[in-house]
Amino acid sequence: MQDCIFCKIVRGELPSARVFEDESVFAFDDIHPVAPAHVIIVPKKHFATLMDIGKSDAGISEKIVNAVQQVAKIKAIDKRGFRAVINTGDEGGQVVQHLHVHVFGGRRLKFELE
Ligand code: AMP
Ligand code: ZN
Repeated sequence: MQDCIFCKIVRGELPSARVFEDESVFAFDDIHPVAPAHVIIVPKKHFATLMDIGKSDAGISEKIVNAVQQVAKIKAIDKRGFRAVINTGDEGGQVVQHLHVHVFGGRRLKFELE
């Protein structure tokens, strides 16, 4: 059992505003949104980073991509456009050590790398 905030959200031990869920992934509104739509998608199984998905877990990638599409439709940004981001590791700016995809949308997004 992982003592990890996103694992706790998946298990319902921490509150979240659920957006989408299937047997493999869980999606919820980011607690500090930086766009009108800002959703976090996590695999229910704990992977620390993108680099921890192995060959035997390959199916999770399709599940995550499907969740991005479903979230985009639910938030009505599928046709307007949106951005999906996976911060990975220290220099990638990853703060929570449970693999997650950010989905941003609902306004025109600039592309800035500081
Ligand atoms: P990252 O920098 O990619 O690790 O992003 C972590 C994201 O998780 C940030 O955008 C946080 O606002 C978000 N976050 C952290 N804790 C929670 C929480 N309890 N509920 C929803 N979002 C959270
Ligand atoms: Zn976790």
